[in-house]
Formats: sequence, structure tokens, C-alpha cells
Amino acid sequence: MKKVRVRFAPSPTGYLHVGNARTALFNWLFARQNKGVYILRVEDTDIERSEREYEDRLIKDLGWLGLDWDEGPDKGGDYGPYRQSLRVDQYNAYAQALIDQGKAYYCFCSPEELKREREKALAQGKTPVYSGRCRGLPVGESKKRVKAGEEAVVRLLTPDKGILTFHDIVRGSLSFQLGLIGDPVLIRSNGTPSYNYAVVIDDALMKISHVIRGEDHLINTVKQLLLYKALGFDPPLFAHLSMVMGKDNTRLSKRHGATSVYQFSQQGILSLALFNYLALLGWSPPDGREVLSKKELVEGFDLTKASRSAAIFDYDKLYWINRQHIKQLSEKEKAEKALIELKKAGYLPERLSHRQWHWLEKAAVPLSRGINKFSDIAEKFSIFFKFSPESMTVEARRVLETDCGRKVVIALYEKLNREKKIDFDRLSLISGDIKKETGCKGKDLFHPLRVALTAQISGLDLDTFIPLVEEGSQLDFPVPIKGCAQRAAEVSRFIHGV
Ligand code: GLU
Repeated sequence: MKKVRVRFAPSPTGYLHVGNARTALFNWLFARQNKGVYILRVEDTDIERSEREYEDRLIKDLGWLGLDWDEGPDKGGDYGPYRQSLRVDQYNAYAQALIDQGKAYYCFCSPEELKREREKALAQGKTPVYSGRCRGLPVGESKKRVKAGEEAVVRLLTPDKGILTFHDIVRGSLSFQLGLIGDPVLIRSNGTPSYNYAVVIDDALMKISHVIRGEDHLINTVKQLLLYKALGFDPPLFAHLSMVMGKDNTRLSKRHGATSVYQFSQQGILSLALFNYLALLGWSPPDGREVLSKKELVEGFDLTKASRSAAIFDYDKLYWINRQHIKQLSEKEKAEKALIELKKAGYLPERLSHRQWHWLEKAAVPLSRGINKFSDIAEKFSIFFKFSPESMTVEARRVLETDCGRKVVIALYEKLNREKKIDFDRLSLISGDIKKETGCKGKDLFHPLRVALTAQISGLDLDTFIPLVEEGSQLDFPVPIKGCAQRAAEVSRFIHGV
């Protein structure tokens, strides 16, 4: 195999969509697996829609996802510049050569004329194809008209009939009727190169060995192969990946939920989990394992086994994979992720004291269990920071309104009122006394105890909760944590007016 050189070539016209991120990832896996080179090329020739802000975001998001590149606009390399807007001279030079060789020509048809032609073809039920009207114009004359300021595009001269067949790594042998292609525009009337043209010049000059991209580019590949031929360049090998769709089989869009890498990173999806999930979008390892490390993915990935059918983006599966990766985080990593969210929620200060950090490390372990994404963890921590009898659910309140509920809460309040600080062992002794005094036992005893201390009917085990809430109540957080005695007092006052 030729030295592997692959590229991800995004247009900076929006945030990095997960469909494009999947393309970037497959290229990256293929490059790393083959000890090849991974290139980032920014395709910013659409001046109106390209923005530097999107490019900056894109670079950050690719970095966050762990798709490091070897050559790119920020890194340089032997085949730069890696931003198309800086390569315009090369595009023009090759276009002139094609014109001089009679392989391309100036076309003076106005947009209105082309529109009329297109509409006519559509009305007759035909595929609109450029008529080739300007093909026969003598080059010398055309050049003079252009020099005199007349607007023109440059088109590639393509065959009117025949079939083009090429091998696709994912889809096998593919054939296309050339009569349906029309002469593609290489240079637009404003002097900028078309996508199909710039991409061929760049892929050829950057010595790209494999082009791996979405199947929405298949028809472009046909045009590009014609261009390789006209330019006398060897074409790369092609692999067209199936599209990423929502569960309803339409292109994944905002309607389905988050769609950009940035949104997922903001939700606290782990980058490794998104990496893992995207690798499974249109490919699966033969042994059926789904939770895989980067290294395992690089070793096991097989481009030839990429799926030909649409890849369905399944949010639940992404969350499941995220949960599996969360489990594998260390205590410290869990605390670091939780810290980001808890600061956003205003629960934690900008800088934590040593004791606060230690508390967070202990609390983040049980509270990150079962969350789909880290943005859900602030809600979990509300058991500490947002104790509020007033906003108790109806179910929680019902627990306290039974005969036992009432007795247990009052007894608990009276006993805790006398305690300085309690731990779980102490609470066990206290609850033994309450049981004797009230005659309430089993869930009639434990449910009211839980609700009195947490104002919730489920959540952390009390033996985990009590030491954490007591220690937390000693620490100076922006939102103070109430200790057990205060909680029992507030619940008792709220429910029973005691
Ligand atoms: N800039 C193109 C896009 O974002 C690149 C397609 C290609 O890989 O050739 O769709």
C-alpha cells in the first residue's frame, strides 16, 4: 500500500457536526492504524459562509475529541498552506493550463440563462445538465472577453456519454453515466475555485492516498475523477461512508437533539465516550464488544468493514457508553468533571480549599453512578445543596403525613437537637431508640428518616449521605450545606409546625 496520507477537510461554516466528526474519526483511525499521516485542511473558499470563529471552534473540538493531526493550518507541514483561501494562485495556474490544453473552457452563460435551461429540463422530466453551449468558443476570443471584464466561469470539458467505473473501499465497484454529469465549474465568476476543483488540486498536491468521506460526495467523486484524468494526476483510493441519521431515518439535525461535538462536550459527555461511540457509527468490531479504548479502536478498526447502510445516531446508546466510561474514571477525574458542573450551578467556588476538594472527591464517586452525562450531576448534588422542605414532592410529603411519619420526624428532631455532630453509627443508635419509643419499624421508620434528612424519597444511601452531609455542613461553600439537625428541624417545622 502507498504511504497512507489522509485528510479531514471541513468547511468552517458551522460547528463540528457529529456526522463530520465521524468522518474525521474514521480518517484518524485509518491513519494511526497504518502509521500514516493525518492532515487537517480548512476548506474556506465559500467566503460568505466561512468564519474564523468556526475554524477556531473546530480546531478546539477536534483536539477535545483527541483527533490530533500531523499537518494542518496551525501546525504547518511540507504541503501547505493548509487553508484553501491561501492556495488560490495554485488553483488559477492549473485552471489556465487546462484552458490552454483545451481541457477546460470559459463559459459566459448568465445565471438567468442557466436557470431557464434547468427549469426546462425539469419540466420535461429530464436531469438538468449544462448544455455545453460555450464549449466551442475559440480560446483566444474567450480570453479577450474575460480581459475586457466580461463575467465568466471556467468549466471542465467532460464526455457526453460513456460510463465511469471505480472501486470504492466500502461499496465495491460503482458505475456512473457520464451523460448526467455536465461540465463542472472549476472557477466561479468571482475568481474563487469550486469545491470539486480545489479539492482535487489539494488532494493531489498533498499526496493524499485515501479519501474517506460521506456518501453524499459520491457524485462529486465522479467529477473529481474526471478532473484527475484531465490534470494527469493519479487519483487516490476512495471510501464513502454511509450517512448519519436520526432514529426516524432523516438526516441528523437539531430536531433530534444535540448534534455538534461542542454541544456534547458542554453536556459533560466524556471525549473518550464520544470517540468510542462515533467509531461504532457505521462500524462494529467482530467480537461485538462496544466499550473500547482508543488503542483498541486503532488496532481493531477495519475500514473495509464499514457499513453500507445508514448509521443511526442513538442517544441512549451514547449515554450507555458514556456511563461505562464514567465508571472507569478515577476518583480524582470524577471530581474534576463534577467540579466543572457544580461551579456552573453556583454550588462550588472558583477555588476549592483542600478540605472542600477532599469532600468533593468523596461525594463525586457515589453521585456520578448512573448519570448519563456530567451535566446531570448538579441535579444529583442538589441533595446536599438544595435541601428544601417547601419543594418536597407529593410522595415525599405523604411519607411524613402518616402516623409513623409524624412521630418519627418529631422524635428525630428532638434527638438530633441535642447532638453536636452525628455519623451513621450514631444515627443507627438513635433510630433504634425511635423505634422503641414510637413502635414504628421497617419502612415506616426508614422512609420518614430519609425524607426528614434529604427531603427526597430516593437517592444516596443514608450511610453514604450522612457523613458527607455532616462534613459538608462544616465547610464554607457559596451555598451552605445544612447538617442533619437543621434538616430535621426544618422538615418538622414545615410539616407539623413543631
Ligand atoms: N469541505 C468538504 C465538506 O466539508 C470536504 C469534503 C471532502 O472530504 O472532500 O463536505
